[in-house]
Amino acid sequence: MGWGREVAVARSGVAHPATLGICDAPTVARDAVDWLEAVFDDFGVRLKPALLWKIKSTDLPISVDVKAGEGPRTTLVFNGEDLGDAVIRFAGALQAWLVTALGAEVPPCPTHGGALSPSRTDVQPEWRCPEGDLNCVIGDYRDAIWPPGPDERPEK
Ligand SMILES: [Zn+2]
Repeated sequence: MGWGREVAVARSGVAHPATLGICDAPTVARDAVDWLEAVFDDFGVRLKPALLWKIKSTDLPISVDVKAGEGPRTTLVFNGEDLGDAVIRFAGALQAWLVTALGAEVPPCPTHGGALSPSRTDVQPEWRCPEGDLNCVIGDYRDAIWPPGPDERPEK
């Protein structure tokens, strides 16, 4: 399997019972791979080079190979008894690696420039600025910072 957005391949054999049977209510719940996509989307908004990732399985624990462009690479594990906690832990580990490997603090608060902290303050895992001016559900970062501020270009 090559690098990139190949989760679609990995997911092709995965059954989603909730979408196949009779649903009592529409669900917006994300599974582990949905959350991984959300996390990587958010990290990628303000990061160069591109962050590439791949997984071999969608069953927990998920071993996620990550590399930054043609640069450094690592393997992180997505796991946890609670999906929300797993998201927070994975986002924190990826964030720590990006600081070490690239010196990149992402995803940044548009106002303060520092990285937002993955937090569990509500039902959903969120990004929170330590200064308290921004919080959004992980996966919604791009929408949360739009439009870019007057001192900011949408693409760096
Ligand atoms: Zn802030």
